[in-house]
Amino acid sequence: MEASKSRLLHRSLREAPPKAVGGDGVWLIAEDGRRILDASGGAAVSCLGHQHPRVLEAITRQASKLAFAHTGFFSSEPAEALAEALVGDEPGGLAYAYLVSGGSEAIEASIKLARQYFAESGQPQRHRFIARRQSYHGNTLGALAAGGNAWRREPYAPLLSAAFSHVTPAFAYHEKRDSESETDFVTRLAAELEAEFQRLGPDTVAAFIAEPVVGATAGCVPAPEGYFRAVREICNRHGALLILDEVMCGMGRTGTRHAWEQEGVAPDIQAIAKGLGGGYQPIGAMLAGGRIIDAIRQGSGAFQHGHTYLAHPLACAAALEVQRVIDDEHLLDRIQDLGRQLERRLTERFGNHRHVGDIRGRGLFQAIELVADRASRTPFDPALKLHQRIKAAALEGGLACYPSGGTLDGRSGDHVLLAPPYIATSDDIDMIVDRLGHAVDLAL
Ligand code: PLP
Repeated sequence: MEASKSRLLHRSLREAPPKAVGGDGVWLIAEDGRRILDASGGAAVSCLGHQHPRVLEAITRQASKLAFAHTGFFSSEPAEALAEALVGDEPGGLAYAYLVSGGSEAIEASIKLARQYFAESGQPQRHRFIARRQSYHGNTLGALAAGGNAWRREPYAPLLSAAFSHVTPAFAYHEKRDSESETDFVTRLAAELEAEFQRLGPDTVAAFIAEPVVGATAGCVPAPEGYFRAVREICNRHGALLILDEVMCGMGRTGTRHAWEQEGVAPDIQAIAKGLGGGYQPIGAMLAGGRIIDAIRQGSGAFQHGHTYLAHPLACAAALEVQRVIDDEHLLDRIQDLGRQLERRLTERFGNHRHVGDIRGRGLFQAIELVADRASRTPFDPALKLHQRIKAAALEGGLACYPSGGTLDGRSGDHVLLAPPYIATSDDIDMIVDRLGHAVDLAL
């Protein structure tokens, strides 16, 4: 459909996407009746697939009792229960949950909490944030300033705060020099981060912010061993906070509930979203360490931030049930098993492919990167819009996956991100790789 015939503003102003009219487990049903295998849950959202009966029932149950009560006046049962489920056992010292409507809001809250903490604990000069190139933290102005996605930032550059600066990402495929070992690479990145603290003035930095496994901008990029421990040490030494953005890679996606569990560090503040509610309702959360909240409690006594739909009861009820299903059905174990299968199948199918330069990821969060030349790791010309051709070919072949283009600076190429539902079967995983292989070959 031409977008100009629709009153709805779509992402593309030229072409409207087909309508999805139904869902059934790992399948999406399009308006023409075609069943499309959902291999990426949109953008790593639909972790329980579609129309999970337990989650639908939880939403209906809550809706029949109370759909909305403003948090300026009331708390609600599902909000209290969800916070307890998320931080009741204080994972990594994270003791409080602030419930919002999505990932960008969770990041805005994280940035503002870090700033307010220092403003109220005798270090008002700390207002700077160090982030990484080729990361994505959301599309609101604060989150966009933190992000390093050049394409998304470009039109809004004059509006983006200079309080954010960016260092080299821990993206070994493109950034590690051939002469370097992984350890050398980590040492160089740590030295660069240290130098950035020194350049800015270490006591002016509020926080370092990063995705433990980089999602959409670079395509499922885990950091090399030891990187996050080095980052944590630098932040600690300079009294800055560590904010981890697990909006995409969190809530089980990589095989542990939080991706940072695999890094041997814990953040001071964490953002989660997508897999928290699995797409059944719009919801995100900021998780915060006790010492941060206690300092503000003893200071002004209020987090000076808020949105109308904070801790929305229906969203909280849905997220709580999603998390209960993950626990009850032991899906973290399943993610690890299926993740190994996905990685193995991708390697079998694409390991020797002349245009697949890298296969990477963790758990059910895996990507392939396409390159014009494997030896030199040269990306395809962005004008070819290869990722869009793959997306179209995949859809035509009954597969929804998440291809993205390379970065404007040519530091990464087209990639295809896969984030299948945790309820997928072994046969579904095989079918995803088969259909992707077909789509890639058609598009090239
Ligand atoms: N952070 C990361 C790592 C993301 O992948 C995203 C969304 O893709 C966001 C933040 C923003 O989340 P939302 O789109 O829900 O605002």
